[in-house]
Amino acid sequence: MPAKYTIHTQPAPHRFEPVIRSGIIAWEEGCLKCAVCVKTMCVYGVYDNRGLDPRQMIDSIDNQCMNCLRCVQGCPRELIHKSMNPEYRALGDPYWTPDIISSLWYQAETGKIPISGAGYPGPFSGPGFDSMWTDMSEIVRPTRDGIHGREYISTAVDLGRTPEFLRFSESGELDGDEPLVTSIPLPIFMKFPAFGALSDEIIKGWAMAARRIGTLMTLPQEKINASLDNFGQWLMPVLPEGPESVSMPKGVRVIEIPWSENLEETISDIKKLYSAVLISVKIPMAEGIEEKALSLTRKGISIIHLEGSSDGRFLDDETRYLKDGIRSVHMKLVDEGVRDNLTLLASGGLSMAEHVAKSMLCGADAVFVDFPILIALECRMCRRCTEGLPCPVEIDDASSGWVAARVVNLLGAWHNQLLEVMGAMGIRDARRLRGETGRAMFFEELDRSTFESLGQVEEGCQLE
Ligand code: SF4
Ligand code: SF4
Repeated sequence: MPAKYTIHTQPAPHRFEPVIRSGIIAWEEGCLKCAVCVKTMCVYGVYDNRGLDPRQMIDSIDNQCMNCLRCVQGCPRELIHKSMNPEYRALGDPYWTPDIISSLWYQAETGKIPISGAGYPGPFSGPGFDSMWTDMSEIVRPTRDGIHGREYISTAVDLGRTPEFLRFSESGELDGDEPLVTSIPLPIFMKFPAFGALSDEIIKGWAMAARRIGTLMTLPQEKINASLDNFGQWLMPVLPEGPESVSMPKGVRVIEIPWSENLEETISDIKKLYSAVLISVKIPMAEGIEEKALSLTRKGISIIHLEGSSDGRFLDDETRYLKDGIRSVHMKLVDEGVRDNLTLLASGGLSMAEHVAKSMLCGADAVFVDFPILIALECRMCRRCTEGLPCPVEIDDASSGWVAARVVNLLGAWHNQLLEVMGAMGIRDARRLRGETGRAMFFEELDRSTFESLGQVEEGCQLE
């Protein structure tokens, strides 16, 4: 039994007041001046502690209010109202929604699993990962003493081609080369985000988090500097197409290269310099990805990274989703009898912990998260940095220690949620999640099998 893997978290407070969902509006006009005003009864004392945050020019009542609505309901003249904060509503975009962003902030601050209240308030089904449900059949028989109890649930995964068998000489020595495989205790790797007000200190903080968690972080080769010399084991340098020179910190176990026409030449150049380094080939999630993945597998590539769009779709077709792409690549490799020859990684739009287990059920061995590690640093996904404008939360001034603590908290919360999902499914080893589509339900398939026999829906009409 391996030592139990635990991610230790500790509170890492926000540097700025977060944008909250709703605020208080209290009218003075018409006030009866009650002897015992409802404002004095606020159990959180927010009216007493009310003040102005001069740095961000916000009324502190909006951040301290716990939304119990006691004062709103209690005022006899109905002068107190809760209102949706327009700044909150404007956060992010249609995919990286305000609720997702604020949930990531909470997890990065506390390291805890977000609790959204009793019952599920959302729609029955939605696009992408939202059209998929995981098996919870074992939830009636959870582990005897919780996810951190005696029943060990392993989240470790292997990178590289695991051999089907080992051959030993008569003297008991391993025959042939040792297989090139490395194990990572968490199937969640960090990916350098496509934008952000980033500094060397932030990159160092992310590397510190990767080391503390024991995971990997992709990093464009040009971002690697001397301050990362001690982090080689946890970095996954991304080399440009056809690198003329390859320099990287000591201890690097995996490097990544983008797919290109002269891929084989590039790989052979890298192998000459670093024979003991695993190579991951990144291919865009686009039309024909199944054939491309199959061809790479047959050429001996042992790790493939399928890269989707930032909103979890194909890069060339917004009607197709990452989960479906992972699934069809996985099934293609299974059908061709080569699935065990490689590790399949996926990235693009993973915004919630549940997306990790869902990606793996569709066939990924492990996944990358990119924007969540930026949002963990209070990013509001406003994209001002992409236009050269100052970051509203001065992310580029954050210290590496704070960055590491926030990301460790976030991934600690995601690890716990993965354990919860696996515990509810009765799966004790993350390697067994891979491609277990029989332990999930897909809305499209249920819809088809239920209604197909009723015939075609007439053009211009739809089922409700
Ligand atoms: S809604 Fe509740 S927490 Fe918020 S100010 Fe009123 S009484 Fe206090
Ligand atoms: S908050 Fe806005 S400006 Fe700052 S890193 Fe995030 S997207 Fe960029």
